[in-house]
Amino acid sequence: MSPTPAPSTRTLPVADTASVRAHTRGLVRRHRASLAKVVGLHAVAAVAGLVAPRVIGLLVDEISHGRSLDVVNSLALWIAGAVVVQTVVTWFARRASFVMGETVFAELREQFMGRVVELPLSTVERAGTGDLVSRTTNDVEALSHVIRFGVPAIFVGAVTTAITLVAAFVTGWQVALAVLVGVPILVLSTRRYLRLAPDGYLRERATYAVLNGVVTESADGGRTVDALGLRGRRRRRMDDALRDCYDAELYTLGLRMRWFPSVEFAFFAPVAATLLWGGWLISKDLATAGTVTAVALYVQQMAGPLDELISWLDEIQVGATSLARVIGIADVPPDRSATGESPADDRIEVGDVHYAYRAGRDVLRGVSLDLQPGERLAIVGPSGAGKSTLGRLMAGIDGPREGRVDVGGVRLVDLELAQLRGQVALVTQEHHVFVGSLDDNLRLARPSASREQLLEALEAVDASDWALGLPDGLDTVVGSGGHRLSEPQAQQLALARLVLADPHTLVLDEATSLLDPRAARHLERSLAAVVEGRTVVAIAHRLMTAHDADRVCVVEDGRISEIGSHEQLLGADGAYAALWRSWRDEPQPAV
Ligand code: ADP
Repeated sequence: MSPTPAPSTRTLPVADTASVRAHTRGLVRRHRASLAKVVGLHAVAAVAGLVAPRVIGLLVDEISHGRSLDVVNSLALWIAGAVVVQTVVTWFARRASFVMGETVFAELREQFMGRVVELPLSTVERAGTGDLVSRTTNDVEALSHVIRFGVPAIFVGAVTTAITLVAAFVTGWQVALAVLVGVPILVLSTRRYLRLAPDGYLRERATYAVLNGVVTESADGGRTVDALGLRGRRRRRMDDALRDCYDAELYTLGLRMRWFPSVEFAFFAPVAATLLWGGWLISKDLATAGTVTAVALYVQQMAGPLDELISWLDEIQVGATSLARVIGIADVPPDRSATGESPADDRIEVGDVHYAYRAGRDVLRGVSLDLQPGERLAIVGPSGAGKSTLGRLMAGIDGPREGRVDVGGVRLVDLELAQLRGQVALVTQEHHVFVGSLDDNLRLARPSASREQLLEALEAVDASDWALGLPDGLDTVVGSGGHRLSEPQAQQLALARLVLADPHTLVLDEATSLLDPRAARHLERSLAAVVEGRTVVAIAHRLMTAHDADRVCVVEDGRISEIGSHEQLLGADGAYAALWRSWRDEPQPAV
């Protein structure tokens, strides 16, 4: 089974080994003080743990020499004292480890979230949400587990193993040589595992991402699946994704099944070897029974931390894969780079624009259009003609493949995102209520806004009455788990955000916009207040919108075929006139 990257790993990048290492080095550098504390405390605990075997060895020798009970008692006191010290220091050491783990994880999570929210929308849409969701859930979880528990455990394991090994050699180096029996078995099996595991886990993670995507799509598009009778196909798709997950897990399970038994053997072989070899040394008078006892106890004592260390190596592989996927987000190239230019005015110009979702298949071909400030422009045309795509370009969400979309002489994609949002906004039906206070939700649109401005915005969309009537007014926590806003309230909140962002141009995609005829009447009033005084491009799926517009632009097959006022276009008797006639003669759905 040779791991092949799943398609989704090609869309959002995965960081390479060098950057994962560099990132880890950076983390270690930033947290070196707490790291030193953790390692130091564990070293003290490990040293305290060395006392018991050594004293037991001495006891064996003392007893075989027939010493008094007093000596035995004082040695026993030493053991008790050492155990108490070890327990207390271990408690502090573990505490320090967990604090460090939590701090590092919190830092990583914040960096990750910072990057995720800055990802170019176009990239997220192209990659599909499955991969991103998988990274924000499965990968962050895997990483959290490794950083919180694995990293501390690895330090404990490494420090304790090293100190115990040194103690074994100091106590009786000839006897301790027997430990070396385990080394080749351990090294060979672990090297093989470490060579094969990263690809295996990467593939496993990628199959999870695909599965996530398939499940999310099926759930989101449940109605479509039902309507088009696609259940069988979705189920097969899900089965395929599950089979890929199963195969990938089987592969890594196979690796572990071969590795774990060799490691177990490598732990216990040295204990047996020490006893046998030690027995021979005693018989030749090259070691005392006490020394062999102490070394054998050390070797046995080493199995615990070493096992911990080795088993975490496995999880570290998973963690490193997740880290590569999490920090890989930073490698997404920005889809725009601000040049610092400022628009000279509010005029939006589309100049000879070409755009393709897939290379070689232009869905917009040579579109040019000038918007007059303050005008209402309706874009009409058959489904799939490119209207929504043109809308996205005019809102600066995507940049054209060729040509320019400018505001006041500056390309939209040359503006800072925050600056762009103050120029033009795409209005859709998405009106997410974020977890936080109403104040936070509004401020997303303009962080510097004053309370008065927030209230004015709510007032403008006719929402101040209910907003001020909430239990804590603007400080009421809303969103998931907080105060539930009704659907119209959530939409008004979205509109109030638009008022705060105050773009001079709005692109309303009717297919998904708040102009949905099902929307409550008073929402239309709120929307009318927002639209007032702004340039509006309405992607019209109802020709009534076109009738009311100043100008109508007909898009057919990625090109503008006609543009002019409703009357002019009717007079020209072209595509629009035909559309209008067929629409007028159709029975209208009740609104
Ligand atoms: P309209 O809004 O006029 O119905 P669109 O702008 O949505 O048309 O689509 C224009 C063309 O681009 C269509 O052929 C559509 O299939 C294609 N298209 C739209 N969105 C995507 C996308 N995200 N990926 C690939 N093709 C797309």
